[in-house]
Parts: sequence; C-alpha cells; structure tokens
Amino acid sequence: MRRAELRIDRSALRHNAEIARRAAGDRKILAAVKADGYGHGAATVAETLRESVDGLMVASLGEGEALRQAGVTLRIVVLQGVTSQAEARRAAKRFLEPVFHHESQIAAVGTVGFGLPLTAWVKLDSGMHRVGFTPAELPEAYARLRGLRGIRPHPGVLTHFARADEPDRSPTDTQIATFRSALASLDDFSGETSLCNSAGLLAFPEAGGDWVRPGIMLYGGNPFVTGTATDHGLRPVMTLTTRLIAVRTLRAGEPIGYGGRFVAPETMPVGVAAIGYGDGYPRHAPDGTPIVVNGQRAAVIGRVSMDLVTIDLRGIQAQVGDEVECWGAQLPIDAVAGRSGTISYELMCQMSGRVQRIVTD
Ligand SMILES: *Cc1c(COP(=O)(O)O)cnc(C)c1O
Repeated sequence: MRRAELRIDRSALRHNAEIARRAAGDRKILAAVKADGYGHGAATVAETLRESVDGLMVASLGEGEALRQAGVTLRIVVLQGVTSQAEARRAAKRFLEPVFHHESQIAAVGTVGFGLPLTAWVKLDSGMHRVGFTPAELPEAYARLRGLRGIRPHPGVLTHFARADEPDRSPTDTQIATFRSALASLDDFSGETSLCNSAGLLAFPEAGGDWVRPGIMLYGGNPFVTGTATDHGLRPVMTLTTRLIAVRTLRAGEPIGYGGRFVAPETMPVGVAAIGYGDGYPRHAPDGTPIVVNGQRAAVIGRVSMDLVTIDLRGIQAQVGDEVECWGAQLPIDAVAGRSGTISYELMCQMSGRVQRIVTD
C-alpha cells in the first residue's frame, strides 16, 4: 500500500497567479519560489507559471542556478545576493539578479567587470530591521553600487513588509512612507521598485511599486493572520494524502501512542494513518487537529510519531485502505497549521523527500 502522497495541482497554481495578476494591476509579478517553491517543487512551479508571472524570486544563488539548469528563462532575483567576486561571476553567467542588502557585499564584488554586467537590486530596510540598508545609508550604498563596473546602471530598490498580514495597518503604512522618502533621497533614481509580498499585494493596493512579490498566495495559503484563503478566492495547490493502515478498537481507559497523551474515554474505534513527522506532518499537532478520512472530517488523537498518525474514528465510516487527507482540497492547510502552532508556510516547506510527489494539470 502506498504511503504519503503529495499532489500538486497546477491549475490551482495558475488560478492563484491570476488572482495575483488582478490585484497587481499593471505591476509585474515576481513569484517567490524559494525553499523549493514553498515545498511544491521550484522547477514545477516555474514551468507552470511561465506564462502567468514576469519573474521569479529565490533566496540563494544555488536555487537560482538550479532553476536555470532546469531551463527556466524568466528573470530571477536572488534575495541573499552574492558575497564574493566568484559568486558575482556565477550570477552574471546565469543572468541571476542579486539583491545587495549589506555593504560587505558591495565591497566583495569590487570594481572589476564580469563580462556581462549584473542586473542588481538594493534592499532598503524600511522597518523590518532584519536586512537591508537603512534610509540614511541608502544614498551612499546606492551610489557606490552604481559606480561598479560589473553592475548595470539603475539598480532596482526593494523592501519587505514585516506586518502586512496583521489587521493593524499602521506599521505597513509607515514602511510604505519610509520607502517613498528613501527613494526621493536618491539622485535621479530611475530603477525598478518593489514592496509587496502576498499580504501587501492584497491589502495595500496603494503601496505601488513596479513589481510585486507574492509567495504564499500562489500556493493557496492564507497570507493574513485572520480569515481564510478562500476569502480571497485562493485554491490549495498541495494536497497531502495517505492511507489508513489499521482500524482498531480502543477500550475505555487505554492510552494510544507515545506518552499516552490521549486516553480513550469510552470504547471507541481508532484509525492509524501511514504518515508522520518523518513525512512532514507536524509533530506538534494536538488532539483535535482536523484530518479528513474517506471524505469525512475527523480528528487526530495521540502524539504524532515519525511514521504514523492516530485518528479518532467515532462517527466515521472507515476501513483499512481508505484515503486520509492531511490538508489540501478538502481541508485548508491553515486549519492544520493554526492548530499546530505554526503557519502554512512552514508545513509546506517541511514536506520530506519520502513523500511521493504527483503533479496534475
Ligand atoms: C518570501 C518573500 C516574499 C513572499 O512572501 P509571501 O508572504 O509568501 O507572499 C516576498 N518578499 C521577500 C523579500 C520574501 O523573502
């Protein structure tokens, strides 16, 4: 009997990209495909969205090179940029566009050219205070970068929102204002600009910029701390399923699984599904975490182990071999993530190599 299977629905991906396109208006779309396309397979996502987006965004140079190797020809922005001349040469060779977020990167690239000049971006720290040049540092950093022989004229400037997913709009309003005033402080700036992640794209149309950078919404996750992905018309792209490998009866008072976390309050049927944290199912899922058995909403009981999850089958019609959906088409990933003290992003990214992947149109 097969174990865990991850179905990637390409039509849902294209549908979600269409929603991003509508929200973007005349802005261009840089699809976030870092961390292997949020666990969906970066090359699969890139190929699926070839006609739907205008560029891609990865975290590391290696991720960008892998996409080029897979034949991807879209523009690719590399968020962590380059840290040496050798890396700058690698980026130039593959037409990857590094982001410069720290002055050590400008120094490392140095004044020599690379044959083909690099299209570069500069990261402004408009309030997240993680990476990027402060508004005060930006003019000098930008001028220094522009002055390098290996860099094309007019690098772009981007920034990232820390709290666009929250109901309180003021932190993001402040970041937008900071971005604008920092740009205004540059002499004759004519580069490209980019501000919005998924939440920014959907909730802050006034943020503007030439490019938007949606990630989670493309995969059908809810970009906001409130509401659901469906509120925005988004469809789940990944569906994680497995099978029941055992159905048995637990007697009143009997504990199940490691630590005996769940103790049967009455004689009851339980199911054992062939999936666990070794596949990427969250170990922290508490009793009551929703899971779908044979099309019916059931609940996880007992501690999740490496290979198995145990399920309360009271009121559920089920037998060995029946399909179990952990999340996806019938159960929002956000519902499982929320119960497990995490976010959909993490669940998507932590799918293990043991899970068999199936791509559908
Ligand atoms: C990951 C990332 C995004 C996409 O964020 P989502 O919340 O998934 O839409 C956008 N910009 C930057 C800089 C990122 O690192």
